[in-house]
Amino acid sequence: MAETIFSKILSGEIPCHRVYEDEHVLAFLDIGPLSRGHTLVIPKEPAATLDALSDEASAAIGRVLPRLCRAVKAVSGCKDYNVLQNNGAPAHQAVFHVHFHIIPKPDPNTGLGVSWPSGKLDDGEGLAALIRAELT
Ligand code: AMP
Repeated sequence: MAETIFSKILSGEIPCHRVYEDEHVLAFLDIGPLSRGHTLVIPKEPAATLDALSDEASAAIGRVLPRLCRAVKAVSGCKDYNVLQNNGAPAHQAVFHVHFHIIPKPDPNTGLGVSWPSGKLDDGEGLAALIRAELT
């Protein structure tokens, strides 16, 4: 995987405001926060997108994500927040090392803004069966 700003943070080449670290995971403050407390959670394993991440690294993130959310909630004073994870440039990924955003939502105009142009589900059973068949 190509070097990214986050691999440089992991190697210590670039500083960060660290909030959590264990054997598999690092969490630090986002340098361009959407709201106060905006935190990034990354695996130490190099993977550009979530689908490329190992079960072990995913589990390590899943284990600490709720605890990190509780800490961000407590410090930001926000009971509402978004967890965002972008994959691919068209899906707004700018740094190609897997990361989860924890973004406090203090009010309707601050934090993550989401456009949600929902459609109508057609052939749900057929589609679900196709996705099930891809799972290994
Ligand atoms: P994404 O669009 O999901 O790839 O988000 C990348 C995030 O990384 C953005 O919210 C940036 O503000 C953040 N970011 C980029 N460089 C740094 C850095 N050196 N330290 C902390 N956050 C960073």
